[in-house]
Amino acid sequence: MKFNVLTLFPEMFSALDESIIGRGKEKGLIDINLINIRDFSKDKHKKVDDTPYGGGAGMVMEPTVVYDAFKSIQDENAKVIYLSPQGKTLNQQIVQNLAKEESITLLCGHYEGIDQRVIDEIVDEEISIGDYVLTGGELPAMVLIDSVSRYVKGVLKEDSVQEESFTNGLLEYPQYTRPEIFLDKKVPEVLLSGHHENINKWRRHQALINTYLKRPDLLKEIELSKEDKKILSDYKNFKEGGSK
Ligand code: SAM
Repeated sequence: MKFNVLTLFPEMFSALDESIIGRGKEKGLIDINLINIRDFSKDKHKKVDDTPYGGGAGMVMEPTVVYDAFKSIQDENAKVIYLSPQGKTLNQQIVQNLAKEESITLLCGHYEGIDQRVIDEIVDEEISIGDYVLTGGELPAMVLIDSVSRYVKGVLKEDSVQEESFTNGLLEYPQYTRPEIFLDKKVPEVLLSGHHENINKWRRHQALINTYLKRPDLLKEIELSKEDKKILSDYKNFKEGGSK
């Protein structure tokens, strides 16, 4: 999968050379093409921003330099995303849909943002990583690249993404590894049993309770089986009984 990134700070993306994403890049599964917007400035001081029309604080990235940088990419089929606090909030469903694209161009703003005319001209979609404002679009772009790359075939073991939080609408069950006893706390017996059916049942049970306790809003969005509903109502009755 290919990511073209339009940025004023390409060095920041060295974080993606590490760990799983770094290995994905080495294997040629992920290609990150960094374009330094400043290289397209015609100004002798390589200026890329100017004061906002109408006044106000901060600087705005000029449309011409952003447009020239974009035109240099020549990847017509790439979906163009502007990372912006005003965009749709990124979630696992959006991530999974983006992973179906062959290539994506990410536009990172800085300062007060980018002149609206170039956004209107080149951008297909605006994506936010949450309701807060960052200094630039580089961290959000890296968040998007990391989350989407995990769905690129070969980057992770296939079932790693299938079982994870949000993939099936629930949060994941708790995980344990060696040692079997840590600070007098023992790993749940069922996980040592080797009985796959019981392990799967236990994990489903834990995922449901985990979601009920931490993100009950998610339970309204998914279809629960009869068994799921029974697990949750037994748990709720048990809690209510216990708190009397
Ligand atoms: N003036 C803009 C506003 O109020 O909507 C905010 C500009 S912000 C300081 C600079 C750049 O950071 C934006 O152009 C965008 O690319 C990026 N950015 C900031 N917060 C973001 C968020 N939550 N999600 C995605 N991108 C963000």
